[in-house]
Amino acid sequence: TKKAVLGPLVGAVDQGTSSTRFLVFNSKTAELLSHHQVEIKQEFPREGWVEQDPKEILNSVYECVEKTCEKLGQLNIDISNIKAIGVSNQRETTVVWDKLTGEPLYNAVVWLDLRTQSTVEILSKRIPGNNNFVKSKTGLPLSTYFSAVKLRWILDNVKKVQKAVKENRALFGTIDSWLIWSLTGGVNGGVHCTDVTNASRTMLFNIHSLEWDKELCEFFGIPMQILPNVRSSSEIYGLMKAGALEGVPISGCLGDQSAALVGQMCFQDGQAKNTYGTGCFLLCNTGRKCVFSEHGLLTTVAYKLGRDKPVFYALEGSVAIAGAVTRWLRDNLGIIKTSEEIEKLAKEVGTSYGCYFVPAFSGLYAPYWDPSARGIICGLTQFTNKCHIAFAALEAVCFQTREILDAMNRDCGIPLSHLQVDGGMTSNKILMQLQADILYIPVVKPSMPETTALGAAMAAGAAEGVGVWSLEPEDLSAVTMERFEPQINAEESEIRYSTWKKAVMKSMGWVT
Ligand code: ADP
Repeated sequence: TKKAVLGPLVGAVDQGTSSTRFLVFNSKTAELLSHHQVEIKQEFPREGWVEQDPKEILNSVYECVEKTCEKLGQLNIDISNIKAIGVSNQRETTVVWDKLTGEPLYNAVVWLDLRTQSTVEILSKRIPGNNNFVKSKTGLPLSTYFSAVKLRWILDNVKKVQKAVKENRALFGTIDSWLIWSLTGGVNGGVHCTDVTNASRTMLFNIHSLEWDKELCEFFGIPMQILPNVRSSSEIYGLMKAGALEGVPISGCLGDQSAALVGQMCFQDGQAKNTYGTGCFLLCNTGRKCVFSEHGLLTTVAYKLGRDKPVFYALEGSVAIAGAVTRWLRDNLGIIKTSEEIEKLAKEVGTSYGCYFVPAFSGLYAPYWDPSARGIICGLTQFTNKCHIAFAALEAVCFQTREILDAMNRDCGIPLSHLQVDGGMTSNKILMQLQADILYIPVVKPSMPETTALGAAMAAGAAEGVGVWSLEPEDLSAVTMERFEPQINAEESEIRYSTWKKAVMKSMGWVT
């Protein structure tokens, strides 16, 4: 049968901490045509350690691409209409591999991993000049969260890596680099690159000059020859070397939070979005200028959509644990069988009944930046049951967002009038309503929740030499929104929030 032609299509890899997806969009309408998703294993080899297998990640991408192409075939859509592919990825997660064999030399050290806590303590005593040395160049506090210290740990502890560096065979990359290098041919001419958004999360990248920073590399002891080339977020990096989409250019690359900012069309100064995935990340576009926070937010590269296009910056509030708390209730406590079930439990009680859950599994990120915090559940009585704990877990995500929104409002001066949201957790309606109640502003969610992938597809489709996607907002007029309005009274909201803060204080400084 003859396949229907829809005009140019664009694919997007969305490689997250929890899962990998491949999605195909119509570039004229931004309509999602088909997708496939595979969950990714997380290993916890020791307390505080979080690893993933880079090979599993790569294979999941191939699997998602092939399955999505099959599904498109079943829909009578010709995959030769796919003109470009974008990549969006979990950020900071660190991979080192051998460029001669294509094999990873160690597991990927995931952004949530805490093994570098002592590395961070040692380094923070050695910061040259004033304490602002790292922050003023990178926009980031010295923390276990970013790639530089993870790479330092790997270089210090993995013999295979030390040898490969000496023999000039080692390549470093965040997940985007690992994927693009592998997808564009790997040992047979793979392109070793990253984009400015991902580079800005390594703590080795100068966000003003947009180059790897020699002084930072010296400070962290990182050999510069293992670093990828830094490119814009929208340009042709290389072509797919294998599979159903062989020959299609990879022409978009954005860290997942930047991709969501683009996918939510937050192109104006002051526009913000909050994404609820494994963690939770509120980014506010600050335009062409770097704004430095007084309240624990990060300064980061938002995007640079083309080689000759200007760079845009964002202020970011990062929360380490959001959806991960659902996964923990599922995998560690077994009180739910699927992520969706948390909503049913929470709904049964409709309150936490005074129970508060601070899921500081990886310390606390913004606005506290306390690596020694650990999770607590408090306010328990004999009345408390699993439903209250489920409710408290959802409420924790909302309180954490309230903390970063407050910080954002203080740094930006103009309070947000509503919150644009997306991410895997936003299908949870109780969560969305709670969020509106706790922020006391409306929460607005696009009906097509895959904004991270959409942003990567937009960057890929708009690249020079591809040119099938225009970044004008009118293009997305078909996108509809769902709105959640605050329903409780402001006083009740404040009381709950201040009790949460009391619980946070109890979680801090736990590990000494
Ligand atoms: P990531 O991009 O970090 O991989 P996703 O945006 O795919 O994350 O969201 C997945 C996360 O959201 C998982 O941690 C999962 O446990 C959680 N999650 C998914 N659906 C729900 C739901 N209905 N309620 C609560 N949490 C959910």
